[in-house]
Amino acid sequence: MVQNKFAFFEGKFVPIEEAKVSIMTHALNYGTGCFEGIRAYWNEEEEQLYIFRMPEHYQRLHNSCRILLIDLPYTVEQLGDITVELLRREGFKEDTYIRPLAFKSQEGIGVRLKDVADTFALFAIPFGKYIEREEGAKVCVSSWRRIYDTALPARAKCTGAYVNSALCKSEAEMNGFDEAIVLTRGGSVSEGSAENFFMVRNGVLITPSITSDILEGITRQTLIQLAREELHIPVKERTIDRTELYVCDEAFLCGTGVQIAAIASIDHRPVGDGRIGPITKKLRDLYFDIVRGKVPKYKHWCTPVYDKPSGAFPGKEYTSQLPEKQPSPYESMAAVE
Ligand code: PMP
Repeated sequence: MVQNKFAFFEGKFVPIEEAKVSIMTHALNYGTGCFEGIRAYWNEEEEQLYIFRMPEHYQRLHNSCRILLIDLPYTVEQLGDITVELLRREGFKEDTYIRPLAFKSQEGIGVRLKDVADTFALFAIPFGKYIEREEGAKVCVSSWRRIYDTALPARAKCTGAYVNSALCKSEAEMNGFDEAIVLTRGGSVSEGSAENFFMVRNGVLITPSITSDILEGITRQTLIQLAREELHIPVKERTIDRTELYVCDEAFLCGTGVQIAAIASIDHRPVGDGRIGPITKKLRDLYFDIVRGKVPKYKHWCTPVYDKPSGAFPGKEYTSQLPEKQPSPYESMAAVE
C-alpha cells in the first residue's frame, strides 16, 4: 500500500503517481544516479517531526553529484526547504524516511556522464526498523568484496553501487544472518552492506578510516563526536583486520536506516558475551534522544517540519515558494572553455 501522496519531481510537487520515468532513462539502464537516505523522527510530546542532520545529507548529495557530473540545480538550503515543504504536504506524524535522488534522466543509449541531462526527485515514506534484531544482530563476513575507490567510489552514494550492497545483504540473509560485514579488496574491514562499522577493544572505539572504501557516514561522524565529547571514550579511525572481529569486546553497525544495531555474533563467534555492550548501549540511548530533538545541546541537528516560523534552517525565514533553479556549474564551465 502506498502511504505517501506526493513527490518533488522535475522542479515541482506532483502526485506520487505522476513521478514516473521512461524505460529508456539513462540512470535506469546504467545506474547513473546518486541519492540520500535521511530520517525524520516524530516527537510525540512536542507534536513535532524533526529531520536529522539534513544539511549534512544534502552536502553529501552535492559531493556525490560532483563525482558523477550531475548538475544539482538547488543549494543545500533550497533542498532543505523543498524537503520541509514535501513533509508538510504529506503531514506525517510518525518516523519517516526521506529519499532524495539525483539522476541522469536523458532517454537514449550511450554510456557517459558528461552532457547527459539530469533530474532531481524526492519522496518520503513512513519507516520503522531496518534490521529486526537491532539489539543483537547475527552477522557474517561477506564472500563479496567492497567496491573500491578507483573503480566505483563508495564515497559517492551512487545508485549503481548498491548492486554490491544487495549482493552482500542477500548472501547474508540467504545464509541465515541479519547482515554482512564487507572487506576491502585488500582484505581489511570496510563496512556493512549499507551501514558503517564500529567495534570496541579495550575501551577504545575503533572504526575503519574514510579511505577504507566506506561511505562517509553521517551517523558515523555523529557517533565519533558523541563518543569523544559526551562519553569521553577514545576513538580511533584505523585499518581493522578480519580476525579483530572475532576478539573484539563490542561491535555495532550504524547508519541512517539501521540507526545503531548491536552485533551479537560475527561468523558464529559471540561478540563479548553476545549481548549489547555498555558503550554501544550508552551511544544508542544518547543517539535516540538526540534524533528526536530531546537533547537541547544538539537540537540544532534537528530541523522541525511543522509550524515553525524559523523554517528549515534556524535563523532563516521560511518561504513556501519554490526555490529558483541555480545555473549549472557545468554550463558555466563550458562557457569558459
Ligand atoms: N555505508 C553505506 C554503504 C550506506 O548505504 C549507508 C547508509 N546511507 C551508510 C554507510 C551509513 O551512512 P549514514 O550514516 O550517512 O546514513
